[in-house]
This record gives sequence, C-alpha cells and structure tokens, in this order.
Amino acid sequence: MSNLSPNFWKNKSLAEMTEEEWEALCDGCARCCIYRLEDEDTGRIHFTNVHCRLLDTETGRCTDYANRSVRVPDCVTITLKELESPYWLPKTCAYRLLAEGKPLPDWHPLITSDPESVVKAGARVCDRTICEDDADVLESHLVDWLE
Ligand code: SF4
Repeated sequence: MSNLSPNFWKNKSLAEMTEEEWEALCDGCARCCIYRLEDEDTGRIHFTNVHCRLLDTETGRCTDYANRSVRVPDCVTITLKELESPYWLPKTCAYRLLAEGKPLPDWHPLITSDPESVVKAGARVCDRTICEDDADVLESHLVDWLE
C-alpha cells in the first residue's frame, strides 16, 4: 500500500482517485460476487447464497479479474457512472458507501491495515455460500442474512 496517499478515501473524491487507490477500496468481502435478483415491480434487490464460479472462496477475490466481464457477461464493472445509482451494490460495499457520502466501516482493511480484518469482522460471506455449479434455480436460494 506504499503508493496510497494517507486517508485518500477521506481526502479525495472517487473521481480523483488513482487506479491503485480505486482498486484498494475493495475490501474482499465477495458480496458483489453473490447472485442477486431484482424485483421487477419494486426494484428491491434480493440476495441468494449462490456465488459466481470465478470466486476464490479462500481469498474472496475473483480468479480471473482481468477477464471477468468476458467470461461472465452479467458481471458489472464498478465505474463512476455505475456509482451514480449504487443501489445494486451491497450496503457495506466501500464503493457504494463512498458514493453515498458515508464512511468506511471500522473493519475495512484500509483502516485496520490488516487484509484479514474483513474476515474477522464476519463481513466476508463466501464461507456461507455455494458455487453456482452446485445450485439449482436461484429463486430457491434466497437469503435474508445478506444485504
Ligand atoms: S462488494 Fe464491494 S467491497 Fe465487497 S468485494 Fe465487491 S467491490 Fe469489493
């Protein structure tokens, strides 16, 4: 993290961040790698307990980050444009929090300097999810413990 400005997430807007700072915002919670269903009538997002097959459940990171959009066309790349309306991201996601003018949680690795603090806080969810290869229809895997 040596090239990261101290407290850059407090001192810079999302638009001002370097690529390295932008990437460092991701805490590795893996929540955005969980399939969600959007209610067509209400717009409400419902989480399932099913994760993308590209997710490494040990690290909470994508196993093919560079090619994820090609391999998984539904995978949305988080951009400033996408963050104009970040309701589709998990509520604890650092990008959503900053886009909504909120602080990062105390357990965020940028604050703790400990990459495992996301696990210690119970924020990484892939120990409670199953791979899409092992799941049937998503509608039968809706959960209410994830948001
Ligand atoms: S939800 Fe946000 S913080 Fe968590 S893994 Fe996805 S991009 Fe990173």
